[in-house]
Parts: sequence; structure tokens; C-alpha cells
Amino acid sequence: MSEAPAPVATPLRLFNSLTRQLEPFEPVHAGEARVYSCGPTVYNYPHIGNMRAYVFADVLGRTLSFKGYKLTHVINITDVGHLTDDADAGEDKMEKIAKAQAQSIWDIAEHYKQAYWADVRALNIRQPAQWTVATDYVPQMIAFAQTIAEKHCYELDSGLYFDVASVADYGRLARAQTDDGEGRIEAVEGKRNSADFAIWRKTPAGEKRQMEWDSPWGKGAPGWHLECSVMSGEVLGFPFDIHTGGIDHREIHHPNEIAQNQAFCCTNGLDVPANSGAKIWMHNNFLVERSGKMSKSSGEFLRLQLLIDKGYHPLAYRMMCLQAHYRSELEFSWDGLGAALTRLKRMLLTISNLKARHAELVSASMSEQAPWVRDEGWTLKHVQGDGLEMFRDLTSNFAEAISNDLNTSVALTLLEDVLAKKKVDPARKLQVVQAMDAVLGLGLLTLERSDLRIRPKGVDLNESEIEATLIARKEARAAKDFARSDALRDELAAKGVDVMDGDPLGWEWKLV
Ligand code: AMP
Ligand code: ZN
Repeated sequence: MSEAPAPVATPLRLFNSLTRQLEPFEPVHAGEARVYSCGPTVYNYPHIGNMRAYVFADVLGRTLSFKGYKLTHVINITDVGHLTDDADAGEDKMEKIAKAQAQSIWDIAEHYKQAYWADVRALNIRQPAQWTVATDYVPQMIAFAQTIAEKHCYELDSGLYFDVASVADYGRLARAQTDDGEGRIEAVEGKRNSADFAIWRKTPAGEKRQMEWDSPWGKGAPGWHLECSVMSGEVLGFPFDIHTGGIDHREIHHPNEIAQNQAFCCTNGLDVPANSGAKIWMHNNFLVERSGKMSKSSGEFLRLQLLIDKGYHPLAYRMMCLQAHYRSELEFSWDGLGAALTRLKRMLLTISNLKARHAELVSASMSEQAPWVRDEGWTLKHVQGDGLEMFRDLTSNFAEAISNDLNTSVALTLLEDVLAKKKVDPARKLQVVQAMDAVLGLGLLTLERSDLRIRPKGVDLNESEIEATLIARKEARAAKDFARSDALRDELAAKGVDVMDGDPLGWEWKLV
């Protein structure tokens, strides 16, 4: 038997916002990938747009793992320093909400951090190697600021400011003009350049903030941009591989992080990519909603919990995200979410049939691990080995799609091609599905079809009772007792259950 050719390793290419080009991923440390993602400011619940940023970062991390890199992913939790607007004159978001609700900032931060983590779990976002919490790094932030203060900063009454003219190429990431005072950052009296930003905000004389620390510039709190520079550099080391965030961060937050990193690393111009602290800067585009429900200031905004309360499984939202390229704007609609759910249901119908066929073929003992489970995780290498040759083209194309700047929409269609493949061993097919799902993260081999039933909050139903009535109705129909069958259907309808005879996805009932 001739040996199967070695798998073709398509190089990973990612869009670097700094150069506005696709670039090959060349790790700083051989075989490793170090990634930092800007995390949430925990002053409110995340909306589903925020969660798109973490689904994207998760797919990036999963892709790096699938391609065999040892991944170290860090996501921060901002619990101090993020102002209500990008102007340095704004209020700290955490201080503001704590005042309004007469609560301690620490309690507020804890509450919203837990809510964010619940969404992370519900969306099958893998746990990063480390969650860095900003208030745990204040001494390191002060030390960082001290290192750059003399050459790059100046002090005003309100704080220590970074002089953006002190580094080369300031604002290149945003492609911004900085010399015409375009006013995108509100003027603070005494600033040398309009884009200069506070890296340490002093507590005004006579005031006391809930969160404040002593520093060489007086009592105060760190600036938000400083936090991310410090936590990423501390944990991953400069330069590291990839820094991610939503596209809004391309305009101010990340250019400011880059300027600080340049100052700290004593490197200058951005023609050498590593000088920015991270080699590749990646940004997901926004999730938008026409009526403005994406804005947290609009009162009712779209939380994942709202989708769940309306009966949608959260992974339908993940599917919705994966259907679009991360660099494209994605419009949220309930119809779109419904369509994503249907797609997920269709996949699960095939998968549950495959599992049933597999169970028929082998009398698997309870202790035997299902052949699609691999504790160490799936990588491309494992899916192109012996016994999986018939999937080789599809898996190669899949690897190519995700290696092409994470083209998840093409990857999804290739997964469907695998599911549609005829005359193959169900266990082999499920192995390939599981390997692809290691990147997509839809939980395809663990979800049950019943998990996807629309199940709005507050609807009290006894599923086993419904199933028993359905079986009785099937028996009545088989015995041609249509009067009884109709009566049972009416009984179910009275409980809000619609019987779905002949549903193409094999769904037997739904709630109306
Ligand atoms: P924040 O908690 O406001 O710092 O935002 C958390 C993350 O969500 C950041 O990476 C933002 O860039 C990102 N983000 C904010 N709004 C949206 C949106 N509508 N769609 C996608 N990402 C967003
Ligand atoms: Zn950040």
C-alpha cells in the first residue's frame, strides 16, 4: 500500500491592521502563539456586539491551536480607568455607575465580570490561559509609567500625559492625522498636542475616589491605555504575536497602546512591525442593529440573555457570527438568528443520525471513549491521517479557508460537505466533524437536538409528558384511530405545543 502524502500545511495568513495587509503568521517564539485581547470594562452587561469580539478572538485562538501552535491567550478585565468618552475630561465608567447605584466599585465589577463569564461559557469561548484584572497590576503600571515619564510624558494638574509627538509614526494604526488638532480628543488645558492622553489621572484636590493609589504624581488612577500595555507586556513579553480588539479600538485605544509600547521598548518607527509591541494587530468589525439597540446607553440593549430568554440557544448566535467574516459588518436581526438556528439544527439532525448508526455498528461499552473524542484536541495533522483519506480534499480546503484570515463562512460550508458525504463510516465522519468543530466551536458533538428547541423563558413544560402524549398519538394514528389522534393533538395545543408532522428537520414538536 502506498503511503499517504504528507498533509499540506497551508501557512496562516492574517490581516494586520497596522499594515492593512494580509501577512504570514511568523511566531516570535518558534512553535508558540501569544495573543492578547482587549477585554470588557465591567461597568455593565456586555451586549452581543461585545461578545462578537470574543467569538472572533476565540476562533483565532482555536485556529492557532488547530495549526499546532502552543497558544497563550490573555484577556483582560478592565475594572478601573476606562472613561465615559475618549476625552480625558470624561468620568471613569466604574466610578460613575458606582455613584449612581450607591454601591462599591468592587461589587459592581464582580457582578458584571461574572455576567460576562457566563456569556463566555454560553458561547463556547475557550478559557484563556489568563484573565488579567487591571486593579491587580497597578504597581506594574506605575513602574511602566516611571520608565517612560522622563522622555515621553509631562505633568499637568490633572495628571501625567503622554506626548504623542515623542514617538515616530503616532496614529499610523488609525491612519489618523494628528497635527491639525481635529479635536477627536477633547482639549485639556495645557496639553501639548490634542491627541496627548493621560496615563495617570490625579484625584482632584479635595476629592476622594473609591479607587485610587499613591504614585509619584500623587494619588490617582491609571489610564485605560496604560493598563493594556502593561498587562500584555507583563504576561506575554514584548514583542508578542497578536493583539485583538473591536474596530473602534483601531482609532484611539490601540494607537495609544502602541505609542506607549514604543516608548517603553525604546524602539521607534513602525516600519519595523515588532516595534509596536505586538507584531500583528487584528480588529473585528461591528455587529450593528438598525434601531440602535447595540448601544448600552440606549436603555434596553441586546444581551445574550435576552436571546436566551426568547428561547434561542446561545450557540445559534455563535453560528450567526461565524457565517460572516470577522472583518465585515454584521447586521443583527431576529430572522437572521432564526436562520442560523435552523442551520445548526440541520447539522445536528445529521450528526444525531450518524451517532445512532455508529451505535448500531459497534456495541460500544459504556467505558469506551467515542472515537471522535481526543483529550489533547484535534489538529490538522490528526485529521489527515490513516483511515481519513476520503476526507482529505475537504479537510485541506477547510485548513486553507481558516488559514486565509479565518474564513469561517467557507469553513462552515466545507463542514456541511463532510456531513453530506455518502457511504462513509459514521465514526470516521464524526471524527472529521469534531476536528472542524475544534476550530468553529459550535459544540456539535455534545449538543443534543432537544437543546435547540425554541424554549422561551417562563414557559413551564413537562417534556416527558409531551413525549408520552406524542407516542400515544403515533399509536392512535397507526391504528387509524384519527379521532383519538386529533384529540391528543388538541390536548398538546392547549399546552402551547404544536405538533410538526412532516417537518423536514425531523422536529416533532415546537412551542407556539
Ligand atoms: P468594551 O467593554 O466597551 O471595552 O468593549 C469590549 C469589546 O467589544 C471591545 O473589543 C470593543 O471593541 C468590542 N465592541 C464594542 N461594540 C461592538 C460591536 N457593536 N460589535 C462588535 N464588537 C464591539
Ligand atoms: Zn485594551
